[in-house]
Amino acid sequence: MKTTFLTIKKKTIFAILLCFLAIGAFCATYFPIKASTTPKPLHTIVIDAGHGGIDGGAEGKITGVKESDLNLAFAKCLQAQCQDMGFRVVMTRNNENGLYSPSAPNKKKSEMEKRKSIIEGSNADLVVSIHMNSFRLSSCKGAQVYYAKGNELGKTFAGEVQTSLYEANKNSKTLPSVGDFFVLNCTDKPAILVEFGFLSNPDEEKLLQQESYMKKLCFAVLGGIMKFL
Ligand SMILES: [Zn+2]
Repeated sequence: MKTTFLTIKKKTIFAILLCFLAIGAFCATYFPIKASTTPKPLHTIVIDAGHGGIDGGAEGKITGVKESDLNLAFAKCLQAQCQDMGFRVVMTRNNENGLYSPSAPNKKKSEMEKRKSIIEGSNADLVVSIHMNSFRLSSCKGAQVYYAKGNELGKTFAGEVQTSLYEANKNSKTLPSVGDFFVLNCTDKPAILVEFGFLSNPDEEKLLQQESYMKKLCFAVLGGIMKFL
């Protein structure tokens, strides 16, 4: 009796194991499990806040606002919007400090090399450099987008962002321009430099410091990014 019972028990366990193996094989065939359950970001965007540290860039005559601070505020605003859309964002700077090495004899050169190395190490799909404009004629206003000469993808990308910014502010240019800027020339990736407005225009100097206007313009850039991608 004991032997028979054990034999039956072994047979039952064997049958159950076979069932599990068959179910496992069926599931693996018809319901393949992905290697990773963490969604991979579709694209990486470098957001570069221009200037910083001893280099404040342009300055507003009425409020005294520094371009470097406004650039950082816009960069953080665009970063948040891009991350909300699921993009991976690499920032060249996250605070008011300059990117140069404090001991570097040529701070400008040191800063540019740092920007370049961050872009190169980012594995980015796109680069957006953020600046504010200034001109001797205070009547100039609106946003302007630049790309590097010969960078065809950069030109297309700049066109999408410029169109989107024009929709948000009709004082903006309708077409992008070629710009001879280090941050654009240092990479083959689709890269643009956005001048969001003129600190030399009294109305725009104040407008650019309004959170709602900043969000609106950053959202326009995001719209251009989405259209390009
Ligand atoms: Zn600038």
